[in-house]
Amino acid sequence: MAQETQEEKEGVTRVAIYPGSFDPITYGHIDIVERALEIFDKVILAIAHDISDGSKRSLFSVEERIEMAKSVFEHSPNLIVDSFKGLLVDYVDRTNARVILRGLRATSDFEYEFHMASMNRSLNTHLDTLFMMTSKDYFFVSSRSIKEVAGLGGAVEGLVPSIVARRLKEKFNLPLAKEKQMGWEY
Ligand code: ADP
Repeated sequence: MAQETQEEKEGVTRVAIYPGSFDPITYGHIDIVERALEIFDKVILAIAHDISDGSKRSLFSVEERIEMAKSVFEHSPNLIVDSFKGLLVDYVDRTNARVILRGLRATSDFEYEFHMASMNRSLNTHLDTLFMMTSKDYFFVSSRSIKEVAGLGGAVEGLVPSIVARRLKEKFNLPLAKEKQMGWEY
């Protein structure tokens, strides 16, 4: 049997916080979580409330985003869904996590992420940001593009879980199946 490490003996748990808007959660996010759970004992998916000045408004309320994420991860006991308001570093400080987890899709993500990680590190030098590269299947998936496509009646199945595809249709008042809609119209 492998020898216990010092950390295991002391019962140390490796926790990562995965923050974001998750408006809504996509298979890109889920892929990052699943891979992170291979490295960390616990991952906290931390859903950001909208900033009260109205500068960034989400399509789904924080309660709706939490409900969708919880339903997706209901069989993953090591993934906890939570929400936070205000500064991320203050939220992370209230947990026993030291690592902020982020996903990187393209070089265009890099500049923003680099600034955020540097700012967070300057606000709290105990914290580090860990980046995971997107999987090739999801590099083009963003919550924003999913909302755009779904809002115009495009199919997003395969890019988001079925509960999310359903909620998007409800949000945009779209019928459940396009074929049926054509059947009614003609
Ligand atoms: P934000 O609102 O800050 O852009 P999101 O809620 O969209 O954040 O996403 C949270 C994190 O997940 C970000 O680090 C983002 O880069 C990452 N992410 C989003 N979509 C994907 C994807 N398809 N593959 C990998 N990472 C992703």
